[in-house]
Amino acid sequence: MKYRNSDTEEETLDPQDWDHYKALAHEMMEDVFDLIQNVSHQPVWIRPSDDVKEHFRADVPLEEREINLIYQDVKQRILPYRKGNIHPMFFSWVEGSGTISGVLADMLASAMNSNLGIGDHGAIYVEHQVIGWLKQLLGYPSSSSGTILGGGTIANITAMLVARNSYKNGVIRRRGIKSIGEELIVYCSAETHNCIFKGVETLGIGSDNIRKIPVTEAYQIDLELLQRQINSDVQQRHVPFLIIGNAGTVNTGAIDPLLELSILSKEYGAWFHVDGAIAALAKLLPEFSSQFRGIESADSIAFDLHKWLHVNYEAGCLLVKDADLHRSAFIQQSSYLFAHERGLAAGPESFSNFGLDLSRGFKSLKIWMAFQENGIEKYVRLMRQNIKQAAYLATLVSENESLELLTPVTLNIVCYRFYRTGSPDNELNRINKEIVMRMHEQGAAAPSYTILNGKYSIRVCITNHRTRRENILSLVDLTVKIGNQVISEL
Ligand SMILES: *Cc1c(COP(=O)(O)O)cnc(C)c1O
Repeated sequence: MKYRNSDTEEETLDPQDWDHYKALAHEMMEDVFDLIQNVSHQPVWIRPSDDVKEHFRADVPLEEREINLIYQDVKQRILPYRKGNIHPMFFSWVEGSGTISGVLADMLASAMNSNLGIGDHGAIYVEHQVIGWLKQLLGYPSSSSGTILGGGTIANITAMLVARNSYKNGVIRRRGIKSIGEELIVYCSAETHNCIFKGVETLGIGSDNIRKIPVTEAYQIDLELLQRQINSDVQQRHVPFLIIGNAGTVNTGAIDPLLELSILSKEYGAWFHVDGAIAALAKLLPEFSSQFRGIESADSIAFDLHKWLHVNYEAGCLLVKDADLHRSAFIQQSSYLFAHERGLAAGPESFSNFGLDLSRGFKSLKIWMAFQENGIEKYVRLMRQNIKQAAYLATLVSENESLELLTPVTLNIVCYRFYRTGSPDNELNRINKEIVMRMHEQGAAAPSYTILNGKYSIRVCITNHRTRRENILSLVDLTVKIGNQVISEL
């Protein structure tokens, strides 16, 4: 077969007309600034239409398409259908609201397209500095180790992996979990996040070996029941292997008694891990210092930066007190990865010695830029602002006859429900679920929900730097208004 002339012409993914792309980039930037600056005038959430969903069923494109046309699709069919967490009336689950600077940082990191797996290049030093800052903020020694990860889930699971691979000098790492001939037991409160259970199952420890200890009225782990459970496991020759403390539970924001858990862990030789996905950094608030006592004595801490610190998704962190244990949980010898004395393959130890992934993006740039732009003191003030807004909401709820507060409010999470005397729980559950769905559909507010002691509750988590007190007031009015509407339709 004869080669056509064009077959010998080499291709690239770079544009032929750079100016055309530059103009489009300016247009995108204008749009993005408009979007974020005016987001409060938009609905929190818009249901993706059937037409939109249909669009995403098209076959894989084989031919090229003009980038401007693609961007028109993005503008019409993707950008309007946001999850809503950049909006001041978004209160669902635990989600950060992001920043415009985060958008810019992502662009810069993406332009460098550095892979932090290995090598001697700038991004590695930025990441080390960020990890160093986080150690300092949480009271961890500089000799500890850490890694920036995609979120709390993977940070928690990685921590548990370090604990497992450290057990008895790494015997499980070499010979597998069955070789130890004993049951490793994991203790945590019944309010613990499901990623811990995923982790225990992934690590081969088995969910039967999780002891979900009941909580007190404050939704903290019940220490007496924990002690009793440990005693009973020890009597049966099981190993108290891992104790998990929550620094902010997902349902109610409760902080477990971390110091007591740390003392218990030492007594039994168990690994003490803190899931601080939501609130580890609330330790920086002086008014919370007593509640966070002991957090720095944890063997490992996992926490998110994309939640309460508003770093644009994704950004989480794991810190491990003993860097040698952290390293020896993962290190491998590979001829294609060993470090050289000089050149690109020199540089600090590869992050792949401290976790599962090799290729990794430059997540730390957006953290590094944000910390300097805002200063830690601003984050402290913003967390306090949300905590005050939560307390304000709790007060408004308590003072309103049509509403009922369902849990004590310690942090930034409020669980409440629309209430009517004489209505049984199952009816109130239906009414409150309907209220939540209507708030979402109207694009007016986006709280989430949880079930507490069989009661469906409207759950408001305020990890939002855009929320104002007036938003809290309108949430309360909205709940009562929709609640009354639902009742009138019964
Ligand atoms: C969000 C959360 C997690 C999981 O973190 P991701 O960043 O979503 O993976 C774990 N624990 C708690 C308490 C959380 O709130």
